[in-house]
Amino acid sequence: MYDPLIQTDPGNNSPYPESYWASVSGPAPVDDGAINNNIDADVVIIGAGYTGLSCALHLAREHNIKAVVLEANKTAWGCSGRNAGFILKSTGRKPWSAMTKQWGEEVMRGIYSEVCQGVATVNDLIKEGIDCQVQQAGYIRIAHKPAMMKSLAAQASLLEKTFGYQVEQLSRSDLHQHFMRDENAHGALRFSDGFGINPLKLAWGYQNLARQAGAKIHPGSPVTQWLSENNQQTLITPNGRVNAKKVIIATNGYTPKGFHSSVANRTLPVLSQIIVTEPLTEQQLNACNFITSNVVMDTRALKYYYRKLPDNRILFGGRGAITGKSADDPFYAKRLLSVLKQSFPALHSINYQYAWSGWICMALDDIPHINHAEDNENVLYAMGYCGNGVSFAVQAGKRLADKVAGKALPKLPMFEQQLPKFPLPALRRLGQWSYFHYGKIKDSYF
Ligand SMILES: Cc1cc2nc3c(=O)[nH]c(=O)nc-3n(C[C@H](O)[C@H](O)[C@H](O)COP(=O)(O)OP(=O)(O)OC[C@H]3O[C@@H](n4cnc5c(N)ncnc54)[C@H](O)[C@@H]3O)c2cc1C
Repeated sequence: MYDPLIQTDPGNNSPYPESYWASVSGPAPVDDGAINNNIDADVVIIGAGYTGLSCALHLAREHNIKAVVLEANKTAWGCSGRNAGFILKSTGRKPWSAMTKQWGEEVMRGIYSEVCQGVATVNDLIKEGIDCQVQQAGYIRIAHKPAMMKSLAAQASLLEKTFGYQVEQLSRSDLHQHFMRDENAHGALRFSDGFGINPLKLAWGYQNLARQAGAKIHPGSPVTQWLSENNQQTLITPNGRVNAKKVIIATNGYTPKGFHSSVANRTLPVLSQIIVTEPLTEQQLNACNFITSNVVMDTRALKYYYRKLPDNRILFGGRGAITGKSADDPFYAKRLLSVLKQSFPALHSINYQYAWSGWICMALDDIPHINHAEDNENVLYAMGYCGNGVSFAVQAGKRLADKVAGKALPKLPMFEQQLPKFPLPALRRLGQWSYFHYGKIKDSYF
C-alpha cells in the first residue's frame, strides 16, 4: 500500500480499495476527467476528499469562485471513501478538559461551535438529496473498564455545564438490555446526535453539489511537481499543468513525502483498519441482543469502534499496521475479529468478508490546523483531524473557502497556529510504535 511517510507518488487513477463501501455504493458519479492540457485557474485544490470537495463547494456557492480540484486517484480514494462513517460532534484527539485547561472556556466554546457547525452543514447537505444511507441517530461511548465510568461521568458533567449539551449515562445493564450485549462494555455515555452514513456516497454527493455549483473535479490528476515563482503556482500533472494564483493542500493523511514545505514533517500518517463481517443471522442478532444501529466507540487509548450496518453486518475498526508495506497483512484484520468475538462471544463462528485500511492524519498537538503557509499566503492547508474528520472536514473546507475569499476566521488555535513540526521527524514511526506499546499496557492494566 502507498506509504505517505516514505513515498512521493500517491498513485494515478488507482482503483478504490476492495472495501464494503466500494462494493455496495454502485457506479461513481460523473466527474470532469483527468487534466489533459495546460490551464489557468484562480484557485486549485489538491485532493478530492471531504476537505477539498467542501472547499470547492463553499468557494463556488458562497464566494462565486469556481475552483479546480486535482485528485491523484478517484474522488474520495483517501480516507473519505474508506472511513467508518461516524458523524460526531468532535475533531482531533485533544479532550475537552485539556483544551479548557490550556486555553480557557471561551476558546473551548469557539471550538465546540466549529464542530457543531460541521455536523449541521453535513446534515443540511444530506437534506439536499444525498442518498448516503443515514442510520438511526445516536453515538455510544462505552467504558471498557468499570473505572472508566468515572471519567465518562466527568465528561458528561463538563459538556452539560459548559455547553448545555446533555448526554445520557447508561449502566452496563441499560446498555445490554436496550442497545447491545457487549461483554467488554461496563456502561456508556450516549450522545443523541451522532449517526452513521455510507462515507463514499456522502463524498460522491458532495462532488455532485460542487460540480453543480461550478467547480471542476479532475480525478487521475496527481500533482507530481510544484513550481512556485513570483506569486504564481504551477502544478504539474502527467498530462497537463495548471497555473494558479492560490493553492489549497487538502491531501491530509495521504500527503506525499516532501510534497510542500508548509506541511513537511508536521503530520504522522497512522493506519486505521476496518473489517466488515458477513450479515448476522436473526439468531446471532438475538444472541447478542444487537438492537442498535448507533455508532459505538470505546474509551481505550487504542480505541475500537463498531456499528451495525443496514444489512446487519458488523463494521469493526481499530489500529492497523504501522507501515504501508504491512498494511494488507491479514494479521491485523484477524486481530480485530478476535476483539469483536471477545465483545460478542455469541459470534464465535462469524467471519469477515471485507478488510481494508486507510491513513488517518495525526498532528503533534492533537488538533487540526487550517491555515496558510508560514511564508506564503497563497498556499493554504487543512489537516491533522486525528481520525475524527468526517464532519469536521466539511467545516475545515468551508473555513478554507472563507480564508481564500479574505474573510476573517474566528480567533482559535486551529486557525491561528501552524501545524507544529515533529521533533526528530525521522523517528515518527518509532514514536508511534512506542505509543502502541504504552497504549496496550494502559488499556490492560490501568
Ligand atoms: C479506517 C478509517 C476510519 C475512519 N473513521 C472515521 C469516522 O468514523 N469518523 C470520523 O470523523 N473520521 C473517521 N476517519 C477519518 C476521516 O475519514 C478523515 O478525517 C477525512 O476523511 C479526511 O478527509 P480529507 O478530505 O481531509 O482527506 P482524504 O479523504 O484522505 O483525501 C486526500 C486525497 O488527497 C489525494 N492526494 C494525495 N496526494 C495528492 C497529489 N499529489 N495530487 C493529487 N491528489 C493527491 C489522495 O488521493 C486523497 O484522495 C477515519 C479514517 C480511516 C482511515
